[in-house]
Amino acid sequence: MSSSITGTIKEVPKTVEGPSQYLEEISRKATRTERVLYPIAAIVGQEKMLRALILNTINPSIGGVLIRGQKGTAKSTAVRGLAEILPDIEVVEGCKFNCDPGDQEKFCWECIEKKRKGTLRVIKRQKKVVDLPVGATEDRVVGSLDIEKAVRQGVQAFDPGILAQANRGILYVDEINLLDDFVVDALLDAAAMSVNTVEREGVSVSHPADFIIVGSMNPEEGELRPQLLDRIALQVEVTGIYDVEQRIEIVERRNRFNDDPKQFIREFEAEQDKLRSKIIKAMQLLPRVSTTRENLRTIAEICIAFNVDGHRADIMIERAARTNAAYEGRERITNDDIIEASEMVLPHRMRKKPFEEEEFSVDQLRAVVDGKVR
Ligand SMILES: [Zn+2]
Repeated sequence: MSSSITGTIKEVPKTVEGPSQYLEEISRKATRTERVLYPIAAIVGQEKMLRALILNTINPSIGGVLIRGQKGTAKSTAVRGLAEILPDIEVVEGCKFNCDPGDQEKFCWECIEKKRKGTLRVIKRQKKVVDLPVGATEDRVVGSLDIEKAVRQGVQAFDPGILAQANRGILYVDEINLLDDFVVDALLDAAAMSVNTVEREGVSVSHPADFIIVGSMNPEEGELRPQLLDRIALQVEVTGIYDVEQRIEIVERRNRFNDDPKQFIREFEAEQDKLRSKIIKAMQLLPRVSTTRENLRTIAEICIAFNVDGHRADIMIERAARTNAAYEGRERITNDDIIEASEMVLPHRMRKKPFEEEEFSVDQLRAVVDGKVR
């Protein structure tokens, strides 16, 4: 395949002459009206789901979370509400790829041009939660490339998609198990390389696509493709709550939110602030949390006892445990951190032996950690 125009971020075609009217217009259209989001601090119960989301926010290298559960268990509310407590990031103003001003190596073609002209401005804003609707077309997801235009104008002919919007943010895929194969493939590629590449008739455009993937699904509607399941680090199961008082609380809070969302949000402002500052503190503490050889030994023993495939689980448990320690304000990892992390990493990674329905059990996990099972 011959490639006449490369849109890679490092090789900018000579035809590029600053941001075009066309792309500016798209950027304006992409700006969404503000939504009123249910405060994440007002969610009753579902601690595991919230913790998995928060750990990924503190440490994006954990590698995403899959939330499994029936309809009406606050899955989407939690993920969308996460946007309100996400930390600020610096971005190049107006950039459709959310380029990081501190990482010029990865600049898109427009930011390179802005830098050259001296028109590059930096703004601070919250990380975004970007929705990937299950019925989205391929062009909408990966971006579209007008071949005729590409020949004349180079990368200007590229219309960025959802993967561009999600760069440096969170990509939320509700009903991830119902995604079309082409979207799953695009997600797997982007997740592996942190880059999205669009190829049409020998013309190729690439841009950074580094995001935290958060999927949710109702297992009654079908399972997730194993390759995608393997890519997502953590998994949590959400179930309905069977505590009467809590159920009453859920309805009451929902009604109060519906009646007067602004007032409801004000009520939970202090709680939201507390959560936000706890996350920021954890991010600052994270580089100082050290993993001992003893911690690694415990993790290895767990992965052997639970018969997991490969070594990815060890790596994910270590990251999640280290992040959990930071979230709890500690510089040392305890066995409780390791248990907490393992509960989210292991259940979907256990190799099932034939004729044996191996179930994940926290008691077994505790026994391994306490050295009772070798
Ligand atoms: Zn850029």
